[in-house]
Amino acid sequence: MFGTRQSRTVITRLNEAGYEAVFVGGAVRDYLLGKEPTDIDIATSATPAQVKSVFSNTIDLGTEHGTVLVIESGEPIEVTTYRTEGTYSDNRRPDEVHFVTSLEEDLKRRDFTINALALRIGGEVVDPFRGREDLSKKTIRAVGNPSERFSEDALRMIRAVRFVSVLGFELESSTKASITALGSSIKTLSVERVKQEFDKLFNGLFAHEALELLEDTKLSEALPLYPTQQDSWLQCAPFQNSLDGWASLMIAGDFDASEVVKAYKLSNKERLFLQSVQKFYSIRLIRSYTIMDYYGAECSTLMSVEKLIATLTTRLPIDENTIRNAMDLLPIHTKQELAVKGEQLMEWTGRSGGRWLGEAIQAIEHAVLYQVTPNDHNSIKEWFLHEYECKE
Ligand code: ATP
Ligand code: MG
Repeated sequence: MFGTRQSRTVITRLNEAGYEAVFVGGAVRDYLLGKEPTDIDIATSATPAQVKSVFSNTIDLGTEHGTVLVIESGEPIEVTTYRTEGTYSDNRRPDEVHFVTSLEEDLKRRDFTINALALRIGGEVVDPFRGREDLSKKTIRAVGNPSERFSEDALRMIRAVRFVSVLGFELESSTKASITALGSSIKTLSVERVKQEFDKLFNGLFAHEALELLEDTKLSEALPLYPTQQDSWLQCAPFQNSLDGWASLMIAGDFDASEVVKAYKLSNKERLFLQSVQKFYSIRLIRSYTIMDYYGAECSTLMSVEKLIATLTTRLPIDENTIRNAMDLLPIHTKQELAVKGEQLMEWTGRSGGRWLGEAIQAIEHAVLYQVTPNDHNSIKEWFLHEYECKE
């Protein structure tokens, strides 16, 4: 049986109220492929107001676009009214949305045949564009005329490549030809939308094929920032996750972290990851890690660095177990794990706070990490008062 109990309840209750309601989009595609769907979308002939009247607990998710979040037994479920769309002149959201009552009209506005499938609660698949046939042929084919569909919304071209990466499918030939012809129009897209698709692309098992396709269709030339050394870049794929993808783009493209962050509007967390990879990659070009390096790094950062070292240099990489062991063996992993705090240092010395305090804590951290003193209150006090202070 498809979907969660709660999502089936939502469909059944809409049906009982006299509306058509079906599972749609990626979840149906993934179900037919025997994969676990990431999120479940429901489409309905009911208008947003009608959806809200059927359920007691709902949240508006932009009713002008037709989406209502229904909270059913604690589970949030997106319910979207059947609609058609105009063009995306700002390349973010469609200019106008018209609600319609026909499921087929709704499926027609969707990007690819494999995403234009619906599933009724009884198990019947609605497939007006032969999406199932394309699923079995492993083909990504635009719904309708590909050039028209890519002119309406250029993001669909990047989505096509993202599905190549995630599903390992191939582009149908006229879909591919249209991308090659219209690829430069992705320049007008909002970076946020492009970035989101790249996150998913980087997670795909077939990212190598997807990168080849970006090059092949020349989409790569229209992207905000892209490596010119195609060979190095291709060797980095597939990626461990999206962070690893962005880090690989940076190193293979010989970019500074700040350039990648700016070009793709990466988050703060992503910026910190890239800066850290950049730092440790340049360290590893000349030497191995020290205790201080292990202390200052996340395991996932060093895993990305080592993969890049193995791929792009002749240096021997350090394997995951070695990294994990080295990190496990550290006496402390953060400053918070130190057995003493700043206030205690002030108490011992009778001094008030100031720059000396930060320096002293750093010295204690160093002494504990290099096992000059064990990490317990008395030993640190002993070391601090007799070894550290007298050197001052
Ligand atoms: P995922 O498994 O990553 O969620 P998905 O196919 O569900 O993949 P979503 O971005 O969640 O992708 O979109 C849900 C559905 O909405 C798609 O399957 C497709 O039918 C439709 N869709 C999404 N974006 C577009 C678009 N830009 N143009 C046309 N249809 C789209
Ligand atoms: Mg989805």
